[in-house]
Amino acid sequence: MTELAPPPVQEEQGIRRITHWIGGRAVPGESGRSGPVYNPATGRQTGAVDFASAEEVDRTVQTAKEAFPAWRALSLSRRTELFFRIRDLVHERRDEIAKILTSEHGKVFSDAKGEVTRGLEVIEFCCGIPQLVKGGFSEQVSTGIDVYSIRQPLGVVAGITPFNFPAMVPMWMWAPALACGNTFVLKPSEKDPSASIYTAELLREAGVPDGVFNVVHGDKVAVDSVLEHPDVAAISFVGSTPIARYVYEHGTKHGKRVQALGGAKNHMIVLPDADVDMAADAAVSAGYGSAGERCMAVSQVVAVGDVADRLVEAIRERLPQVKVGDGMKPESEMGPLITREHRDRVAAYIDRGREQGATVVADGRETAPDGGGFFLGVSLLDHVSPENDAYKDEIFGPVLGVTRVETYDEALRLVNDNPYGNGTAIFTRDGGVARRFQFDVQVGMVGINVPIPVPVAYYSFGGWKASLFGDSHIYGPEGINFYTRGKVVTSRWPDPATSKVDLGFPQTR
Ligand code: NAD
Repeated sequence: MTELAPPPVQEEQGIRRITHWIGGRAVPGESGRSGPVYNPATGRQTGAVDFASAEEVDRTVQTAKEAFPAWRALSLSRRTELFFRIRDLVHERRDEIAKILTSEHGKVFSDAKGEVTRGLEVIEFCCGIPQLVKGGFSEQVSTGIDVYSIRQPLGVVAGITPFNFPAMVPMWMWAPALACGNTFVLKPSEKDPSASIYTAELLREAGVPDGVFNVVHGDKVAVDSVLEHPDVAAISFVGSTPIARYVYEHGTKHGKRVQALGGAKNHMIVLPDADVDMAADAAVSAGYGSAGERCMAVSQVVAVGDVADRLVEAIRERLPQVKVGDGMKPESEMGPLITREHRDRVAAYIDRGREQGATVVADGRETAPDGGGFFLGVSLLDHVSPENDAYKDEIFGPVLGVTRVETYDEALRLVNDNPYGNGTAIFTRDGGVARRFQFDVQVGMVGINVPIPVPVAYYSFGGWKASLFGDSHIYGPEGINFYTRGKVVTSRWPDPATSKVDLGFPQTR
């Protein structure tokens, strides 16, 4: 087996402390517990993030609860105005946010800017909040009686987010939650927590009142405290499937509304009539972009019929173009993985894949840059059978598998039998087949000649099966529904003609 870089000597100095954000200010943790934050490109620890105790979570929720009545009462016009300001600030500071993402997550700077841009779309959608929370009105349902519906915020809502989109996934949650009039507690990933504190500062600068947006860092202790807290009305979670399932079950048991988005194993089907160059470009960018650490990454190519040899060759030819290196260097196309442990876990699929019958076309350990960074080069496994661990598991790294099948039906069956159902894509020149695939496939987000079909902000994002627990997709119209509850008013006003006071109406109507 090829050796990867050994652990570097830890930096003793220059380790930044990352604190909570409660009630509009940075609040150092008091639990005495913290977690390390690394620059994955160097492998050095750069920060230590405070981990909250149950009491600290409670204080944060109380702060959000106190801020709720005034925030909820703020007029829609004022909230809209604020959202336009937030939109402008995030846009202006896109580069600063992206630098933070690259320094703690490792993704290349251009990709980090792309992350902020996709998050911005959700903020822009929320600028239309007056239109989004409009109810219905039925006049004269019975004589003198009208019925109308309104949507109101829930109160304090919480978001628990993964490491792989430290700015965008929180935006999927806090933007619609705040726009709807809720106050918010964010528990970001402890692996790259700084973007959430930068966001908090930026929201304060935009004029969001203290206590409306709070950040509490931590691990299971903080998550459990949020899930069990009687004053938290709803929880949005994005992360791996086992934790999503746990958050859904534990949160709903405590009476909360929960949407919990889980892991994925996204298949990209390539039919014999596909444009092979287009499919190979797509497989490379969607398989290795952000080092494969995307829930919508293509991790499994399914080559149908005689396209397989041509496709594998076209992908192999493109691999040297994926320059692996520090995300701040302009020539880098792919950065490191999030931690050393994760990198080693991902790399282990190369040997295991081979032992279980796959052909290793490219071994990323051989092309990983030297030094202490958590790098792994691009890896390609061919002839991956559905029994292979590399097929069954969500690898979440730059190891792309190719499975060969004879027919469209076999390919479809693979996707539909998979326990996950986040994203999928089909590459073909035949519109009829594509339409049939869209009809048949049991997955929440489908791409037709588009490898990563993340919906635009005015549609909602969500998978099926083990990729989503709960019935509500995130952001877009379903996000607005999730963060509000309906109220229906039936009202009767006496006919003015019957008034005891003479209002000047004729008595005979
Ligand atoms: P993770 O499940 O390890 O962590 C997510 C959050 O849960 C973090 O805030 C973490 O602190 C918390 N957490 C971790 N272990 C916990 C425990 N035992 N009890 C309570 N809370 C716990 O996920 P990750 O590694 O940060 O992110 C990668 C995963 O997220 C992948 O599986 C990926 O597919 C998934 N993901 C899914 C989507 C989607 O939209 N479906 C989007 C992004 C990432």
